[in-house]
Amino acid sequence: MQTYPHSPLAGQMMDQPLAISSILQFAARHYGATEIVSRPVEPGLQDTLHRYTWRDCERRARRMARALAGRGVAMGERVGTLAWNGYRHLELYYAVSGSGAVLHTINPRLHPEQIAYIVNHAQDRILCFDITFLALVEAIAPHCPEVRAFVLMTDRAHMPDGAAIPNLLCYEDLLDGATGEDAWPVFDENAAAALCYTSGTTGNPKGVLYSHRSTVLHAYASALPNVLNVGALDTVLPVVPMFHVNAWGLPYSAPLTGARLVLPGAALDGKSLYDLFEAEGVTFSAGVPTVWRGLVDYVVERGLRFSTFRRTVIGGAACPPALMDTLIDTLGVQVIHGWGMTEMSPLGTTGGLLARHRTLPAAEQRALLRKQGHAIFGVDMKIVDDVGAELPWDGRTAGHLLVRGPWIAARYFRDEGGDILQDGWFPTGDVATIDADGFMQVTDRSKDVIKSGGEWIGSIDLENIAMAHPAVLQAACIGVSHPKWDERPLLLVQRRPGMALGREELLRFFEGKVARFWMPDDVVFVEALPTGATGKIQKNRLREQFKAHRLPAA
Ligand code: AMP
Repeated sequence: MQTYPHSPLAGQMMDQPLAISSILQFAARHYGATEIVSRPVEPGLQDTLHRYTWRDCERRARRMARALAGRGVAMGERVGTLAWNGYRHLELYYAVSGSGAVLHTINPRLHPEQIAYIVNHAQDRILCFDITFLALVEAIAPHCPEVRAFVLMTDRAHMPDGAAIPNLLCYEDLLDGATGEDAWPVFDENAAAALCYTSGTTGNPKGVLYSHRSTVLHAYASALPNVLNVGALDTVLPVVPMFHVNAWGLPYSAPLTGARLVLPGAALDGKSLYDLFEAEGVTFSAGVPTVWRGLVDYVVERGLRFSTFRRTVIGGAACPPALMDTLIDTLGVQVIHGWGMTEMSPLGTTGGLLARHRTLPAAEQRALLRKQGHAIFGVDMKIVDDVGAELPWDGRTAGHLLVRGPWIAARYFRDEGGDILQDGWFPTGDVATIDADGFMQVTDRSKDVIKSGGEWIGSIDLENIAMAHPAVLQAACIGVSHPKWDERPLLLVQRRPGMALGREELLRFFEGKVARFWMPDDVVFVEALPTGATGKIQKNRLREQFKAHRLPAA
């Protein structure tokens, strides 16, 4: 760890650690009556809504912290979760980290073998799970010998008979049995608090270990007006799962700002979400583009409108311009394009305009909003060429994007991958431009860039154009080898159900929108595009599948 010069006058201000539990204590004290609404996942309860307040949540989380300590969970030990967005998961966010242990949220959409690998790599001592994942936990339990107890996140009435899981406990029983000191423990702000594994398209997933300090700073910064702008007048519904980089910090920024929280459980289809948005008066939400597409299609196809929903952050993958246009122009929802990654807690930049952009023509404003946007205070960024030389912020030159800041990983958990920084900067693996105003635009992942005759072709641009065609549901562009140009773009397209579209018509749609040498060489229509555990298209699988594809002669 880097050390800095020490001032002889240091220590005149209170040295109060930035603790995750302090966020919940603050919410209980100042926004105590504000509601948290959750859709349960237990059979028979899925049509009901559970309601309680930040005050109730704090009391139960504090009790659960004691229960965990009572079960021998020591400082720094990991407690895993396999759970949807719900109130018990929220309690564990605070109970585990607040007790000094480490909350390890696991993505249940991963392959069971990968989940067992992650549980063992993280050395989870307790694994808490929703009833949805009972069969999954039964399958992995024999392969996770270091887990001392499995906790089913439900009450006694919903505990199954004869589950094939050793040391199976009931969450509510555990809570009821808590004894001991009734106050949040206080410890150093650099203590480990939460662990997330990267989705990693190659090799084993790697863990990123957040501290109390990094989490609290990220929560502060992410709530700011130019970032997510959440506050006490908002009802926030995180569609992004609490197992995907801590739902982008919303379980922390909502109580920090006194927002009302709505947790959708497992029902993430268009109808369920729309009904919940309307019934609960949701004003703000967050999610990846694939989920938004489902919700937006449901709303638009039925001629519905949102009555309270005003703002959403879309990130995790590039937001297709067509999706942004529908949300803004048809549905009246402000779209904040967010960029970040697991290694960045996750937020790095958010899109938006500057005051002087207000007078720009609408099309130019929209072009700015499409960019991944401005760095958040705390995140420093630069672009470099292949040998590490810094590139200009001219909005045209694309380079490898490097970042640094107090909520950015310095290493992976258990030092996987060794030293990952380049002169103190974290290489994001993204390729981007930055303009003179500091607006960053991701043009590609380094490994997805199509290298044609020594030039780089950005696959995201080509996908965005294809997805603006009314008959295209989803598109992915990959490079396939070419005898003369090394690689040329191949476009893979999933048509909207019931719509006709041919290769020639789609290629004509590109004319005038890109330079000639950027034109895809071929289009293949597919039934579906493969998506990974966080809903992103898996281009590595497509590259493998189409590596022998023969492009038509030019
Ligand atoms: P993960 O750690 O799984 O959240 O993945 C992080 C990666 O997702 C980033 O490095 C980007 O490649 C991609 N990503 C996230 N947000 C965006 C965005 N708004 N536009 C383009 N790519 C994005």
